[in-house]
Amino acid sequence: MSNPVIKTRFAPSPTGFIHIGNARTALFSALLGLREGSQFLLRIEDTDRDRSRDEFVNAMQEDLWWLDLKWHEGPVVGGNNGPYHQSARESIYDKHIAHLTEKGSVYPCFCSESELSIARKIQLSSGQPPRYSGKCAKLSANAVKTLLEKGGKPTLRFRVPNDTIVEFDDIVRGKQPFKTNDIGDFIIRRSDHSTAFFFSNAVDDADMGVTHVLRGEDHLANTPRQIMLLNALGLRVPQYGHISLIVGDDGSPLSKRHGSRSIRELRAEGYFPLAVVNYLGRLGHFYESDDMMSVTTLAARFDLARLGKSPARFDAHQLLHWQQRALAAATVDELWEWMGPDVHNLVPPERAQEFVHMIRGNVSFPVHAVHWAKIIFHDPLILNDQARETVAHAGHQFFSQALLAANLHPGNFKEFSEEIRKHTSAKGKALFMPLRAALTGELGGPEMAQILVLMGPERVKQRLHACL
Ligand code: GLU
Repeated sequence: MSNPVIKTRFAPSPTGFIHIGNARTALFSALLGLREGSQFLLRIEDTDRDRSRDEFVNAMQEDLWWLDLKWHEGPVVGGNNGPYHQSARESIYDKHIAHLTEKGSVYPCFCSESELSIARKIQLSSGQPPRYSGKCAKLSANAVKTLLEKGGKPTLRFRVPNDTIVEFDDIVRGKQPFKTNDIGDFIIRRSDHSTAFFFSNAVDDADMGVTHVLRGEDHLANTPRQIMLLNALGLRVPQYGHISLIVGDDGSPLSKRHGSRSIRELRAEGYFPLAVVNYLGRLGHFYESDDMMSVTTLAARFDLARLGKSPARFDAHQLLHWQQRALAAATVDELWEWMGPDVHNLVPPERAQEFVHMIRGNVSFPVHAVHWAKIIFHDPLILNDQARETVAHAGHQFFSQALLAANLHPGNFKEFSEEIRKHTSAKGKALFMPLRAALTGELGGPEMAQILVLMGPERVKQRLHACL
């Protein structure tokens, strides 16, 4: 296959579940990579051995599939640029590090953590950006040898040139100049031999042929380091785009407090994947159309020029709006499936279709469907306070007439209620509310005519009788 013009990637660290923030990063990267002729790749950045867990790798993959963000290349599906777990790429990193060592672009650093931390504090307290002093950059080959013989376990630092500007054209934010004097020589390999994020992330993007990196703006300051590394290695530098953060309604970074959740949690609550992608796709990216779109259409209409620079505000109501849109668009069979086993255990199979039709306008999540299934198919009925009051207010006479009417006109709400009206002179709200209260225990909900049919004459009579 020839090289795609655009190849994007999502490169999560499996240290937790995917939440709304990184799901949106994944989505934008996927939308760009799922357009005609483009490629989307998944890479697992599991170099932090203590915090990475297989459980999270599996969960991330499942969540991405659930959202319909299917990678062309990566774990499970394979590809020509594997392995796709960084933990399995050590020999590739060694090769690049050998190259940098040969060129003299890196040097071993024997400074201890406590030494570095003191130096950092001094710099910060005098208002300077914390950067490595360069102490070990000047060690002679002999000095290095002696320190190694003494059992020293050095880190490896990249030599950053002085007095230079590293500039790149960010896809989202435009020109980004960085002074190398603010950066300082940075670590590319830790003393335990594991590679640092800057290094493995940049090298993998280049080796895997990634052309466009879309990621959170918290990575912006890492980019000049990565560009210097890639240049030193003679590798192709991808185009970087740093997406604005998602914030809560108070402007602070999105958190649980603002209603942020993991994709797992949204799934468990019964959000539709289409609702999630249609909402997130518009969070910091503008679509002309308000239509609900499949991932393929969202991808076809995705436009880098329409990514916003300012922080995107998370709005739980908008997410709910898309949930309702997705619900309205779902087929009866899809909704029945979505309602889940609790509903399936309560609603007789031959009533499934009618039940779905009846409540689809009254529910947003499967718990609501369970609630209505219980109301209609499960006894005893519990009346809420307002319903209880409404029943008491309608009185004995009303319900004895209602019971007679139910015997005369079972299953036909129009005739049934007309019959009650004739004998009690109750009309409008005074007629319908006590019936609704008595039969459903609530004052709102689906059409009474449908409820009556689904409930069946026996249960209707039994509930009216209970109000006497
Ligand atoms: N593993 C990094 C993260 O999850 C990837 C950052 C990037 O996309 O370059 O933050």
